[in-house]
Amino acid sequence: MKHTLVIGSGISGLTAALLQAQRGHHVVLVEKQPFIGGFLNRFTRNGLRFDTGLHFTGGFGHVLSKMLEQLNMADAVRPAPIASDVLLADSGLRLNLPNAGLETARETLSRLFPAQADAIAAYYAAEQTVVAHTPIFNLDAFEPGDVFSMLTDYDALTVDELLDSLNIHTPELRTILPIFSLCHGSPPDTTPFPYHCRCAYNMEANLTAVSHGGDAFIGAFKRELARHGVQIRTNATLESLRFDEAAGICNCATLSNGEDFEVESIHFAVHPAAFMPLFPERILPPRLRRRVQKLRPTCSFFTIYGYLDDGAATESRLTFYMRRTELNGPLHPGQQNYSTGIVTSVDNGNTHPTVTAFRTMFTEDFEKFCGVPYESYRQAGAYLQAKQELAASLEADVLAAYPAYRGKFHLVDAGSPYTCRRFSPPIGSAYGTQQPLAVSRVVGRLPVQNCYALGHHAQFPGILGCMLGAFAQALPNNS
Ligand SMILES: Cc1cc2nc3c(=O)[nH]c(=O)nc-3n(C[C@H](O)[C@H](O)[C@H](O)COP(=O)(O)OP(=O)(O)OC[C@H]3O[C@@H](n4cnc5c(N)ncnc54)[C@H](O)[C@@H]3O)c2cc1C
Repeated sequence: MKHTLVIGSGISGLTAALLQAQRGHHVVLVEKQPFIGGFLNRFTRNGLRFDTGLHFTGGFGHVLSKMLEQLNMADAVRPAPIASDVLLADSGLRLNLPNAGLETARETLSRLFPAQADAIAAYYAAEQTVVAHTPIFNLDAFEPGDVFSMLTDYDALTVDELLDSLNIHTPELRTILPIFSLCHGSPPDTTPFPYHCRCAYNMEANLTAVSHGGDAFIGAFKRELARHGVQIRTNATLESLRFDEAAGICNCATLSNGEDFEVESIHFAVHPAAFMPLFPERILPPRLRRRVQKLRPTCSFFTIYGYLDDGAATESRLTFYMRRTELNGPLHPGQQNYSTGIVTSVDNGNTHPTVTAFRTMFTEDFEKFCGVPYESYRQAGAYLQAKQELAASLEADVLAAYPAYRGKFHLVDAGSPYTCRRFSPPIGSAYGTQQPLAVSRVVGRLPVQNCYALGHHAQFPGILGCMLGAFAQALPNNS
């Protein structure tokens, strides 16, 4: 019997596996870790559940709800309210983000920056144009081949170039308008404006948390994957592939546990560096490998986890705490500037409000800071000391953003970019690879007809983006 293999069980692999199984394929989901879920996984400290890579999303009531319906998971994955704001530490400006669609955002910003009202309107109009030209956002009308490919006038512009063209030069506006760049990790000075819009739009229009976070997703996926007979192999990876070169397909795969499978198709929801060595050079030529070597990771995060005394917070809230009023610094390696996202959660199945604060940090910068290479970090005193120092600095950000938390916030753990790297090898970037203008990534079908690249390294980042990527790839096959 032929099998469809899905490699990697983060949100991308889970979505791809379930879609393939729903279409009647015999699916095997292969995961290197002892557990499935990738960055969806939560962990427990002091009896409280903390999320790792899912704190909020967008798209409930729209494309996310459509996808959850199609995956039969809408009953289990429910939105929870979350407010949001931006705090610019150097100017002291704090702005509530209205979280009620682009029109409300336009009105709010126009009141604050009346001289730039027309430019703000033009920015949001450009964003609407891109969204209207993104067929995958409308799953009902989606046609095979449509995916994200339709060009707009904006495709040749970076986010910063678009802001320049609209004469938006106020640092505050240049930071606030594209603030959700921090949720795809590619900097405004190199990122195509349409890519930014496609990643950011749903969060700008309707930011929500997910009740019970990653637990809700993983529980629902486990139920649906079992219902559709998907076989799961944990502690396993792909060991080797065999090809029918005349037909241009992969016909056999061996896992690290020794199992052999006849292959119908393979979906790689992992970094390309994890699967490229399995393809002979004559099949994946050097030029493609060079392209992969040139890919740059997005930022990773240094994260602290804590909880609040009862009553210290009554609503869930995301605060973008910007050390400086400038967005590019935190999203390029080697810069001193940083941004810290602070999420207070009150509706997360926990007995106390929890606080997670994550600071943009590149793995290479963290390595320089702690002076301990990834290969030997776990026992190293310098690593633990660096973690302690950074945790104290993040705690200071939390208390600067929320003075009312003073004396009521209790730090319970911290995770470095090395922790991310362990869970999402080989680089541990938060959002996969960057998407600079005119650089094409390894997306969709590989030069072998029945092998596909997906996940945040190949297509779109974030929970919603990764699901969209898996749908975009599965739907054309279905036609
Ligand atoms: C701290 C942090 C906070 C974030 N917050 C948010 C947020 O609030 N909202 C949001 O939308 N996004 C957020 N993100 C981004 C989001 O989590 C990711 O973009 C998304 O989860 C990536 O999913 P994925 O399936 O592509 O990869 P992953 O979740 O990394 O999954 C890849 C899986 O493949 C496995 N694997 C790797 N190599 C192999 C191999 N060779 N063989 C078999 N298995 C392998 C890994 O163990 C892992 O389980 C955050 C990320 C981080 C790090």
